[in-house]
Amino acid sequence: MSRPTQFTIDLQALCENARTLKRLAGPRSTMAVVKADAYGHGAVPCAKALAPLVDAFAVAIGEEAIALREAGINLPILVLQGPHSRQEAQVMSSAGLWPAISSERQIDWLEQSGVQFERVWMKCDTGMHRLGFMPHEIASARSRLTTHSANDIVLMSHFADAETPDSTLTERQLTRWHEVSDASSSGSFSNSAATTGQIATRENWIRLGYSLYGGSLVALPEKFSLKPVMQFESRIASVRWIDVGESIGYGGRWVARRRSRIATIPVGYGDGYPRAARDGTPIGTQEGIVLLAGKVSMDMITADITDLPVLNFGSPVTLWGNSPSIDEVAGHCDSIGYELCTRITQRAPRRFHHVTSDRH
Ligand SMILES: *Cc1c(COP(=O)(O)O)cnc(C)c1O
Repeated sequence: MSRPTQFTIDLQALCENARTLKRLAGPRSTMAVVKADAYGHGAVPCAKALAPLVDAFAVAIGEEAIALREAGINLPILVLQGPHSRQEAQVMSSAGLWPAISSERQIDWLEQSGVQFERVWMKCDTGMHRLGFMPHEIASARSRLTTHSANDIVLMSHFADAETPDSTLTERQLTRWHEVSDASSSGSFSNSAATTGQIATRENWIRLGYSLYGGSLVALPEKFSLKPVMQFESRIASVRWIDVGESIGYGGRWVARRRSRIATIPVGYGDGYPRAARDGTPIGTQEGIVLLAGKVSMDMITADITDLPVLNFGSPVTLWGNSPSIDEVAGHCDSIGYELCTRITQRAPRRFHHVTSDRH
């Protein structure tokens, strides 16, 4: 028998989330963001499962888009960073990708290589201040692109704080967006948090990442819910009693204040379980939650199971998934669920539950 630690990826849940989010999106077209290996969930299997349900995919960089093309994904793919060189502009054009263009330098590369794109996305910097044209630069960039390189343009921008209710930053970004976008041309502003939080935006495309995988930074409207796609699971591999005053693990961080029954679980930061997890981080079992006790090692973690005596060698545990959620775990290690799922490693296998029924 091999180590019982694995990631289960429920592609049925992924598709159900896509359907739920499409109901929220209304008439807007849906783009599924599958960058960083679909936030750790597996870009190719996720894209294949989502292809019948979405209008396009988005990735961060050209290599990610080419890998999807090579796996047979034929839907449009937006490359959010656009080309990083003139040569890459050519590669993107031959692969039929949609580049997001955010600088005059990138427009130079398109013009120098003489490539023509069916559609180019043009990024406007409304306040995130990482990439994009400033609002006053939009008109001239648009005219350069339509003259030489693009049959069609979609204006896009990105929220910096969509998960915070009544954010003044969001308000400022929306004001600028309404100045540069006009009702007659295409636009895309919303990410997951803006979509689920129903921020009123003029746009006809939404770009959904984290919410597709079942995570959410904002409460959804009533009757809408998302399912976690990833279950990170293992089983208890060893159980022992320790006396009052004894400590567990490196540095002796956790010290027993009562005689304690300790479970060792064969998972660690070598698999992507965050080393920053503090004592008290929840771990799910069939009997309820137990708490992390002691520092996370590369290959093992330890939990205090004194209060759940039926737990024993072989009892299944959930590191994150239905309970605890990945967002709860992230809250115990100064991180966000996005980082936790993106940083899982290849050591533990990912097992895919494929779409079984044909419900629409
Ligand atoms: C990653 C990304 C998204 C998706 O964001 P989520 O919060 O995961 O929905 C949308 N747009 C851009 C530009 C991105 O980089």
